[in-house]
Amino acid sequence: MTAKQPSGDPGPTTGLPGDGATPEAGSHVVVVGGGITGLAAAWYLIRTHPHVGVTVLEASPTLGGKLGVSDVAGIAVDEGAESFVASRPEALQLAREVGLETELVVPEVFHASVYSRGRPRPMPRGQFMGIPTDLRALAASELMSAPGLLRVPLDRTLPATELADDVSVGALVAARVGREVVDRMVEPLLGGVYAGRADELSMAATMPALFREMRHERSLLTATRRIAGGGMQAAGARRGIPFRGIVGGVGRVPGAMAAALVGSGVQIRTRTTARVLRRVASGWEIEVGPASAPELLHADAVIVATPAAPAARLIADAAPAAAMELSEIETASVALVTLAFRAEDVTAPLPGSGLLVPPVEGRMVKAITYLDQKWGWLGEAAQREGVRMLRLSLGRHGEPEVLARSDEELVALARLDLALLLGIRGIPVDSRVSRWGGALPQYAVGHRRRVERIMLGLRDVPTLALAGATYEGVGVAACVGTAYEAASRVSRGLALQPVASRSAGRIGT
Ligand SMILES: Cc1cc2nc3c(=O)[nH]c(=O)nc-3n(C[C@H](O)[C@H](O)[C@H](O)COP(=O)(O)OP(=O)(O)OC[C@H]3O[C@@H](n4cnc5c(N)ncnc54)[C@H](O)[C@@H]3O)c2cc1C
Repeated sequence: MTAKQPSGDPGPTTGLPGDGATPEAGSHVVVVGGGITGLAAAWYLIRTHPHVGVTVLEASPTLGGKLGVSDVAGIAVDEGAESFVASRPEALQLAREVGLETELVVPEVFHASVYSRGRPRPMPRGQFMGIPTDLRALAASELMSAPGLLRVPLDRTLPATELADDVSVGALVAARVGREVVDRMVEPLLGGVYAGRADELSMAATMPALFREMRHERSLLTATRRIAGGGMQAAGARRGIPFRGIVGGVGRVPGAMAAALVGSGVQIRTRTTARVLRRVASGWEIEVGPASAPELLHADAVIVATPAAPAARLIADAAPAAAMELSEIETASVALVTLAFRAEDVTAPLPGSGLLVPPVEGRMVKAITYLDQKWGWLGEAAQREGVRMLRLSLGRHGEPEVLARSDEELVALARLDLALLLGIRGIPVDSRVSRWGGALPQYAVGHRRRVERIMLGLRDVPTLALAGATYEGVGVAACVGTAYEAASRVSRGLALQPVASRSAGRIGT
């Protein structure tokens, strides 16, 4: 086999980690899954190794997975993810590379309220993932009851909490600063990111820096202030907001990527489900199409960039232990109801970017985003159309029945909560329901160890890699990070074949 020349080296400005490998000419890599992760993996491969053949298989008719836009009241609005973190480079860099640099925008407002004890109250300044650091601000917010508030500073005098290998966020936070902080501050924030429950989610996986800090710091308040200090956002301050959106919605990114990929020679096949993945002497065989008339594709390497359940099915033969671990990762389903109201029907003051609703309040809705206030481009479009645009999120881990409801029921439930929580009682001029079944992986206690075991299960198959929200973070930027690592891994696996000992332990290593 001949080594391929590293022509077209994208150089240091691409943001792609260099891997130094030179896959063989004529190599073909199949990427299963055309969400942001799969597209990013294909992008990395083609940028770093332009002569490799790359095919992306996407089961659904459209690319992008949880990124996509469609119209509500004549305005393009995101169906799923609507922002990227700006504190890590991958997603921002990717948007720039596919020509969306000038469309990157900072939210106009970033400060959310929490519905607590009968009304919306501002999330206190200085909190980090719902853990307070500024007790004056916490008291001023009136988010907590008096006994709950008095319990918080005991953190500083209580003996150290013993930490095992991992612990649930709820258990640690409750032990240090009291249950009410979990119920009224941490739950709504974790609900927003993971649609998960504080008592189930892993501290080590969801707040790794804070968890590490707590290994040698007795006080959670001190540890939180130390790790979050610089990054904490003062209420109302726009500068330093750690998120970015895209004019027209981040759901535009997959389209821009697809154009760039096709222009670089990548083959993209939508409506093409990878059903079976087999290891054969010459590499990999992927069965696509109907079982009655399957089409067989050949690949030298495969990147599986799907959610955990299809990934587990696909790798069951090649890496059974990893597949077993993957199959045990649970997910949460979410429905997003986007409502457009006539502007005159929304008279209630809506401060900030939205309202979070903790489970303890007993409502269906867990978050409301004031889209036209949060995004300047959307605000302008809404003003032109004479509407206000709100997005309501329903569904948490353990509530699969949410998606069993009809669109009409979901809109009715959203409107009911909107009336009860914010007093908005008008009839929407347009609505859209976006269903995300099994969308958010749950990083349960022990998740990081599980991911280590999954990656260990791939150690003898260096031309197979896994990437996506299941492993190192559910955010778009983290997904792109795993995509680059997976692409880097198979690049090395191809160049070094049949040597298997270089891969071990972590994604892309
Ligand atoms: C409602 C919602 C809002 C979110 N908001 C944000 C946000 O604002 N910011 C943020 O950073 N993150 C957000 N996230 C998280 C983030 O969007 C996702 O974690 C990320 O987009 C996942 O990307 P992915 O490509 O790994 O997976 P997916 O988007 O799930 O893509 C996987 C793709 O694989 C395809 N597929 C599955 N099986 C097969 C198969 N056998 N053959 C071929 N194709 C297959 C699927 O059809 C899908 O298109 C949000 C998530 C949700 C659900």
